[in-house]
Amino acid sequence: MIIAVDGPAASGKGTIARALARHYGLPHLDTGLLYRAVGIAVLRSGGDPSDEGDAFRACGFEDTLLSDPGLKSEAAARAASIVSAHPVVRAALLERQRDFAHAPGGAVLDGRDIGTVIAPEARAKLFVTASPEVRAQRRFAELTGHGLAVSYDHVLADIRARDARDSGRGIAPLRQADDAALLETSDLGVDAAVAAAIALVEQAR
Ligand code: C5P
Repeated sequence: MIIAVDGPAASGKGTIARALARHYGLPHLDTGLLYRAVGIAVLRSGGDPSDEGDAFRACGFEDTLLSDPGLKSEAAARAASIVSAHPVVRAALLERQRDFAHAPGGAVLDGRDIGTVIAPEARAKLFVTASPEVRAQRRFAELTGHGLAVSYDHVLADIRARDARDSGRGIAPLRQADDAALLETSDLGVDAAVAAAIALVEQAR
């Protein structure tokens, strides 16, 4: 069974996807890490994420980069959301994601376009969302929890800018697939959100 989990930044989709993978004993791919790796590789080579050539060259990143702690930074997130708007970058990362999705037994993938582009045939599709303010609050708590000095207003502005870029791009924009179930997590704690996600997957099985 392929489970597609899409949604905007800090919606809880990563936590939910990991929990679903554990629950169903399936491998999990956080596809945002691929775009973050491209973004960081561009920055580290002194390139410009908005330059298509620089972004494309960075798609050949070493797999070890996928476990680099720098991928979690807001700079990596920002660069990821810029490189991800280049069609050549999305094309370069497509096969890897599709191969993962079609592993024998199935897989859980989370991202922005899993249910619409990467695995439109997925048996279960969830679109996980929450208000921008709630998402900014979660991200702010996470960053300050790691000892980073950031302001809530700055995090909220960043989330809004990323939402606008991810939803407004011409290729594979962030959107709920027509056959995806909506999971609003603004008023849900982690356990309740995971339980709701499992219930939605059960309905789709
Ligand atoms: O999910 P995460 O916040 O790690 O993703 C970082 C960025 O990568 C997103 O803002 C988005 O621009 C891009 N992305 C994408 N398609 C995906 C996953 C992530 O365009 N499937």
